[in-house]
Amino acid sequence: MALLVQKFGGTSVGDPDRIREVADHVVRCRKRGDQVVLVVSAMGKETDDLLRLADQVSTTKPGREMDMLITGGERKACALVSMALNDRGIDSDSFTGSQAGFITDTIHRNAKILDVRPGRIQASLDEGRVPVVGGSQGVSADRDVTFFGRGGSDTTAVALAHALGADACELYTDVPGVFTTDPRVVSEARKMDQISFDELLEMTATGCPKPAMRSVELARTFGVRLHVRSAFSWVPGTWVTEEENMESAIISAVTHDTSEAKMTVSGVSDRPGVAAQLFRALADADVNVDMIVQNVSAKGSTDISFTLPHEQTPTATATVEAIVEEIGATGSITDDEIARVSLIGAGMQTNPGVAATMFETLSTAGINIEMISTSAIRISCVVREAEAESAVSVLHGAFELHKPAAERSDL
Ligand code: ASP
Ligand code: MG
Repeated sequence: MALLVQKFGGTSVGDPDRIREVADHVVRCRKRGDQVVLVVSAMGKETDDLLRLADQVSTTKPGREMDMLITGGERKACALVSMALNDRGIDSDSFTGSQAGFITDTIHRNAKILDVRPGRIQASLDEGRVPVVGGSQGVSADRDVTFFGRGGSDTTAVALAHALGADACELYTDVPGVFTTDPRVVSEARKMDQISFDELLEMTATGCPKPAMRSVELARTFGVRLHVRSAFSWVPGTWVTEEENMESAIISAVTHDTSEAKMTVSGVSDRPGVAAQLFRALADADVNVDMIVQNVSAKGSTDISFTLPHEQTPTATATVEAIVEEIGATGSITDDEIARVSLIGAGMQTNPGVAATMFETLSTAGINIEMISTSAIRISCVVREAEAESAVSVLHGAFELHKPAAERSDL
């Protein structure tokens, strides 16, 4: 008998039929002898709808009221799922985040969990009932309702699995697991049976949309075993665990991200303190800077390029223009048409030649590399946005990610 925390995403509870299927699923798990706690997202695209509604009504959109509004989506879903369970003869109770014991800070729309006190959830389990918890929400130290941000239900599920000492946290979604790359871009993409936390974190940081990065971080910190799987079948999905890749793949995945833009500040004086001044100003303006490249200086000046989220380019431009003279720069330009393509694999730490193969593959495909950055287990290249999908496709092929690791050629 296992204790499982099962999270169902928006699509999986998207309509009355889907909700009944989730209930049927729970019936099967209970027959097998497992204890389950459910965490649910808002139905379908309801969170988007609520956000749009707020836009239509208000320009100020106070954080407290926004959180009250958005968390209503999950609250509705958890009540409906609980009803469907009761109809099947399974005693079940729904819980808001607050009732489930999620204590958070007071940062509305992006609240962080401070503590989980799952007393009521544990009591419900002890009585043989199935608790259904509204995801992505809690109560602040000021006793206000808080929302964890987009994708926060994954975080609820992981935190609850840890607090209850569950055997695993299952994230049910509309895809069957974690793939070697986006299957919409490369049809031969393979579902992985297993991936390490570190690799999945790099993937989620570089464009893999699910699971939410914050939940993967939390799962790694607390050693919560994650299973990303399909809500539409019983086929096992992808296990996310501490172990290095059991298949001993050198490369695990290729990701791409088109959400960033590039900014170049040119003619910056090459003297100590200039980069510090530039990036301090950007940090103070809350600009989230990522890859940074500084060119070799010529005649005492240099160019600095970095990437940043698209939506922050106006802020960044204003910030840089305000200090252009102080840092001796000649100006700045932004470029929205870029994409970042990344190769991820724990095995690259001990296998030379991965970068060379990556660059050769892109060059053979006629794709120009504009910036490069690396971590111990990732190599990222900035390319033209229009070439991102072909870059992903040629890299997936070159590293033979469509084959099981044991069948791939040596690099
Ligand atoms: N429903 C929220 C969202 O779409 C939170 C979640 O389900 O993770 O972001
Ligand atoms: Mg872009």
